[in-house]
Amino acid sequence: MECAYCKLLLCDQGIQEGFPGCPMEDRSLFDESVRLLMEEDNLRFFQTSCRIEEEGYLRWPRALEIIQFCKEMNYTNIGIAFCLGLKREAAIFIGLLKRSGLAVVSAVCKSGGIPKECLGIKDEEKTNPGSMEVICNPVAQALRLNREKTDFNVVIGLCVGHDSLFFKYSEAPVTTLIAKDRRLGHNPAAALYISESGYLDEPMQEVLGERA
Ligand code: SF4
Repeated sequence: MECAYCKLLLCDQGIQEGFPGCPMEDRSLFDESVRLLMEEDNLRFFQTSCRIEEEGYLRWPRALEIIQFCKEMNYTNIGIAFCLGLKREAAIFIGLLKRSGLAVVSAVCKSGGIPKECLGIKDEEKTNPGSMEVICNPVAQALRLNREKTDFNVVIGLCVGHDSLFFKYSEAPVTTLIAKDRRLGHNPAAALYISESGYLDEPMQEVLGERA
């Protein structure tokens, strides 16, 4: 059973009895999750998340939810890992953080200036073959923010996969302000909303290798 296709949604009614194929058939996973959530660090983090969700429900945009979360968690030093293509957005968000009395350290994806060839990227795999291109370096972004001992890190527009490496190496917890989607104005959900209109057919064929 895919929860995404479930019509019963017993869990949402607080009914803990699973039915065949429902993951709640085996309670052990959920018992373990509660045990972990009750651990001191997780509990405060979790309870604050719940409060923020309610306090600004339908009123606060995500940028302000992040700021409020930082304040309620008593975070003072905030890391920003951003894509060069979203430098302007990063600067605006940093302005909001500073206005809220928070200190900020920002790390751009290109920092380090390392040519793509150093990481085995072939010339024909570059955005503009024949030109000098430097890598996005999410590991360097994480190491830099780790060195600055940031309390909480915010991702702004890191590429798919680069963001995963940043999550992997960041010592501070991470949230995403902007998920990059150059095609859709950084609104990835739009692809899903328009997918049934046929708008995605051609690019899907390309991704699936079905185009001649
Ligand atoms: S946990 Fe069970 S009841 Fe809840 S959505 Fe998934 S399949 Fe449905």
